[in-house]
Amino acid sequence: MKTSFLVNLTCSNCGKTFSAEAVQTYCADCNSPLISNYDLNSARAYLDRDELKTCPKGMWRWHELLPVFDSQNMVTLGEGDTPLLKIPQTGNRLGLSNLFVKDESGNPTASFKARGLSAAISKAKELGVKKVIIPTAGNAGGAMAAYAARAGMSALIYMPKDTPIANMVESRMCGAEVILVDGLISDAAKLANEKARAEGWFDLSTFKEPYRMEGKKVMGYELAESFNWTLPDVILYPTGGGTGLVGMWKAFNELEELGWLDDKKRPRMVSVQADGCAPVVKAFNSGASSCDFWQGAQTTASGLRVPKSFADRLILADIRASEGTAIAVSDAAILTAQKTLAAQEGIFAAPEGAACLAALEELINQKWVKPDERIVLFNTGSGLKYLDGIKQGG
Ligand SMILES: *Cc1c(COP(=O)(O)O)cnc(C)c1O
Ligand SMILES: [Zn+2]
Repeated sequence: MKTSFLVNLTCSNCGKTFSAEAVQTYCADCNSPLISNYDLNSARAYLDRDELKTCPKGMWRWHELLPVFDSQNMVTLGEGDTPLLKIPQTGNRLGLSNLFVKDESGNPTASFKARGLSAAISKAKELGVKKVIIPTAGNAGGAMAAYAARAGMSALIYMPKDTPIANMVESRMCGAEVILVDGLISDAAKLANEKARAEGWFDLSTFKEPYRMEGKKVMGYELAESFNWTLPDVILYPTGGGTGLVGMWKAFNELEELGWLDDKKRPRMVSVQADGCAPVVKAFNSGASSCDFWQGAQTTASGLRVPKSFADRLILADIRASEGTAIAVSDAAILTAQKTLAAQEGIFAAPEGAACLAALEELINQKWVKPDERIVLFNTGSGLKYLDGIKQGG
């Protein structure tokens, strides 16, 4: 039985090749993320797309297209295979006949960060890593703590001191050491990096290790399967580090190479950010190929409080290749959308997920979407993780 068709990795910038048998981080020559390559010719001959449906549910039913060579190293908590929910009330209100939410809130640790950390911790385990470190805006830390606990690794987490309490509690509950930082994720990253260098912790920062993206790309596979091996017309993705956006675009490339798409038409990818931290939107609108560091980042959608992604070039390139766009919404619009999604559809979304609905309303105003297009909003986590700021009305 073939467990994985992973062959090697290449630098997303210079194309230099890296071994899949050793611990990898990023290309130090050009300070850019690494991309995992699979032997898709062999995979095409070996795999049947329709048989995958009959495998036990979850992200690892795609294991041939994931990076772990020995199935004993797969560290799972049941992540993946989240529902694609039609939201007809909201669709009717907005005049859209095919509006969906890919609801990631049911993942372990209640956010889609579980997918990336399941993949990354599994591969780290396979390569003998014993201690992991991460700077986080919140949910990545909680997910890392959970998967590290399950893998028997030590976990050290740096998070801004105003991160939602749920993230601190879940991390500590899972046995991680949590260090609260007076600053943003970018400040946490500097401290984590120093600590990692000094004491030999393996750094799981977004895109500074190659496999979180591999876990998140599976959202793209699941969408293709849900839409019967076609892809939706528009995907709205709340973008911090951009792992899912870049990952799903990679997944679409792989599906096309596998010959699994009955219709090769690609979705237009929409990067959604908060107007208090919108580096991708600013760069997209100015035609730039990289992002400037966003000064004074501030938003209630903590997962979007990322002043500059390490994969900014890839995010911008993929949005443009998809003929997509990037759009910023206010925190007020996010909170309104959060209430609407909960009250009309029963989905108590994370603010990051609610931001997608707020952005969609803006795109409708701009006539950027058509009434019958298949539109998918990503709800990336549960609203229950963000109770700190919510006021109880009488
Ligand atoms: C991390 C996070 C995001 C942003 O995801 P990226 O892949 O880093 O862009 C969005 N929503 C939630 C709930 C998150 O935790
Ligand atoms: Zn390089």
